[in-house]
Amino acid sequence: DQDIDSATVFVRNANHAMLSAKRSSTQSIVVFSDEVEGVYLRKVHLRDKLHRALRADELDVAYQPIINNSTGKIAKFEALARWHDPELGTIYPDEFIAIAEEFGLISLLGQFVLDRALADLYSLHSKGYADVGMAVNRSASEFNHLLQPVEHIIQALKRHDIETDKLTIEVTESASINAQHQVDSQLNKLREQGVKVALDDFCTGYSSLSHLIDVRADYIKIDKSFTQEILTKRKHQVVIASVIKIASELQMEVIAEGVEALEQQQVLLQYGCHFSQGYYYSKPVPLVNAIELLRKYNN
Ligand code: C2E
Ligand code: CA
Ligand code: CA
Repeated sequence: DQDIDSATVFVRNANHAMLSAKRSSTQSIVVFSDEVEGVYLRKVHLRDKLHRALRADELDVAYQPIINNSTGKIAKFEALARWHDPELGTIYPDEFIAIAEEFGLISLLGQFVLDRALADLYSLHSKGYADVGMAVNRSASEFNHLLQPVEHIIQALKRHDIETDKLTIEVTESASINAQHQVDSQLNKLREQGVKVALDDFCTGYSSLSHLIDVRADYIKIDKSFTQEILTKRKHQVVIASVIKIASELQMEVIAEGVEALEQQQVLLQYGCHFSQGYYYSKPVPLVNAIELLRKYNN
């Protein structure tokens, strides 16, 4: 019995090792270890739990305000997925989004967040805050996997009776040029219908200035790792100031993410940054608290 168990474990490890070797672009030697085993088991456990939680509508969405720097009011909220499991506790998005992407659950998750966020936006509108918008994150892989990614989003807007320009889709630049072309053409279709597009995590990873000219997004989001060095690092200051200048000339607006201190906000204002988001204003909060924030900032 014990032998059969360890044989099963062995085959599974071998499989996993082979898959991760295939996935990495360079030639690699894969070593079995308890660590690999542990990481793999947690992943599979989380995948099963996430699948169940999604089917049972057990995930939550938190909302973080994005402030319009010329009015001081909340322009929109960013919807961020939240998962609290009774057994495992809070699992962070960086972990479960990666799992959802790896195991083909990202479309299900994306659909859940979009639906919940639009339903909640409708209730904010009916409380008298009709100008407020909503930003939702989308992984590049969602645009490649879903059959009609654009139709999905437009249908959801209709279902919830929300105008297209009240929704912003946030996407991060992807590693492969091919995948990026796919995503760009879907994003352009969305923009033709009036939906806004934001380039997320700008200044990190694969984002490039030349892409700014091709993609024609509505917003550029400066990643928090850059905002957080705005007072301390010359290089970060120069990049942020330049991105704001170039984006503005291309009729795009800039959102600085991760603003935690008044001094950072003051520098951003001086550079002409259009929007700010971060703990300085509020952490991502449940809907009831989002309504309180609107009372505070938008009345
Ligand atoms: P992101 O889109 O770059 O979101 C910003 C992250 O920074 C959020 O982390 C937010 O809580 C955090 N943050 C905001 N302001 C501050 C600040 O002032 N200081 C610091 N230190 N952090 C701040 P979170 O909620 O853990 O989400 C992590 C990432 O997971 C997101 O990064 C996004 O890429 C992804 N994600 C979250 N929800 C979804 C979703 O529904 N769909 C997809 N595809 N991805 C999602
Ligand atoms: Ca985002
Ligand atoms: Ca970011």
